[in-house]
Amino acid sequence: MFEKQTKSIFIDGKWRAVDGKTDTIYNPATLEPITEVAYGGAKETEEAIEAAKEAFKTWGELPGRERSRILYKAHELMLEDVDRLAEILTTEQGKSLKESTGEIKAAANFLLWYAEEASRGYGEWVPSSFKEKRMLVVPKPIGVVGAITPWNFPASMITRKLGPALAAGCTVVLKPSPETPLSAIEIMKIFERAGMPSGVVNMVTGEAQAIGDTMLQSKTVRLITFTGSTAVGKHLMRESANHVKKLSLELGGHAPILVFDDADIDLAATMALGSKFRNNGQTCICANRIYVHESIAESFTKTLKEKVDQLKVGYGLEKDTDLGPLINEQASKKVQSHLDDAVEKGAQVVCGGGKWSGDLAGHFFEPTVISDITDDMRIMNEETFGPVMPIQTFTDEETVVEKANDTDYGLAAYLFTEKTSRAIRVMEKLEYGIVGINDAFPATPEAPFGGMKQSGVGKEGGHQGMDEFLEKKFVSLGIGN
Ligand code: NAP
Repeated sequence: MFEKQTKSIFIDGKWRAVDGKTDTIYNPATLEPITEVAYGGAKETEEAIEAAKEAFKTWGELPGRERSRILYKAHELMLEDVDRLAEILTTEQGKSLKESTGEIKAAANFLLWYAEEASRGYGEWVPSSFKEKRMLVVPKPIGVVGAITPWNFPASMITRKLGPALAAGCTVVLKPSPETPLSAIEIMKIFERAGMPSGVVNMVTGEAQAIGDTMLQSKTVRLITFTGSTAVGKHLMRESANHVKKLSLELGGHAPILVFDDADIDLAATMALGSKFRNNGQTCICANRIYVHESIAESFTKTLKEKVDQLKVGYGLEKDTDLGPLINEQASKKVQSHLDDAVEKGAQVVCGGGKWSGDLAGHFFEPTVISDITDDMRIMNEETFGPVMPIQTFTDEETVVEKANDTDYGLAAYLFTEKTSRAIRVMEKLEYGIVGINDAFPATPEAPFGGMKQSGVGKEGGHQGMDEFLEKKFVSLGIGN
């Protein structure tokens, strides 16, 4: 399906290879190689940073309207090609074609939203305490941005960063995940076709450490925007101290779902299913632990099981597939170890319960629900990143909110209740950057997405997403007496 893409490094408007160095990309469903891409490192990253620095001189000065025009065009081009792009995404990442189609549309929507925001980088006129002075706050693009993205959403994680960065007037060096560079390559081609000036967007595929270190050591890179694990986020944070770089970090999660006794059970079960099993549980905001009020636990679990039993595991490119493979063997081992640990400590398997025995070589896992859950199980304390859903019962609101908050993560939490007073009360107490009330799909371009505590700093989406890429310059203007 794919030709070799050894010229996958995009610097200053040109596609480049690296002599003798390539990385093989595998289809996670079949474990067959699908193509090769260039394996870049420090040298290519330095060149990309230089190109971005040069391009910033003009891109950063353009009126927002002109930057907007190119982002609109990129949005249009992405939507025109949605079927092909979705197929590429499924082939390299594994998720079902319907989910990939949804992701490409979401990725395009980030470009649309920030095309609109590009012309709205407002400043402020501050009422002065002094009669002889006027005070202004002028937003300016921060400069060259290093963007590092993960494999779980290979398209939308890129446009969620590049959309606001470019709208703000920044220029970018992107390092996509080595598991899923093909969607990133396609996005670069879209920017190229949309008329993005050379050097505004650059991409280096290759060695994470070398590319990351070069970004960290560069004085030119003023901001690193990263989505990935909390461990790598902490490393970037520590190493950014040398040049006091600004950081925007979207890190791991461990989302609780709280289902109260007055909840709409069918809605809660449908949403819990979607939240847990979307992208095979490999989503930062996916439900990792479900707390259900004791009085409705039986009915909730039965409803949920009926829905889970209908999910079809298989090859993502087949139209009726719901769940594809996990990304790799390491991911599969982690999911299995969370399940084994829970079962050893007394969990009961409601449905699923292990590896999926289909005829594909990839690391497939059955959508699994477990009950009789205790707090000491690993699954209740760590991000699983796979399709295992633990259900624990509770009896009182205060205790379940305490349990929900008892984690270093703070990305997303969900609650299901038909009582407005409870919805507001619990929402206010949850220490999470995103709270879904009777809604487990909160992510959207127009709203700020981001975590509290060790789930990250900064926001993506909304006008707040563009603020990350703007510095506020305070201007004090003396006008005489
Ligand atoms: P990861 O291992 O942290 O990798 C993320 C990216 O960072 C990859 O491109 C990776 O490249 C790169 N990287 C690793 N070490 C680096 C270094 N020293 N310097 C620079 N870059 C480096 O995370 P992942 O496994 O791909 O993604 C899963 C994690 O992302 C989960 O924890 C999930 O919750 C989180 N996530 C968060 C959000 C959010 O919005 N909060 C969204 C999606 C995912 P290599 O693969 O080559 O190491």
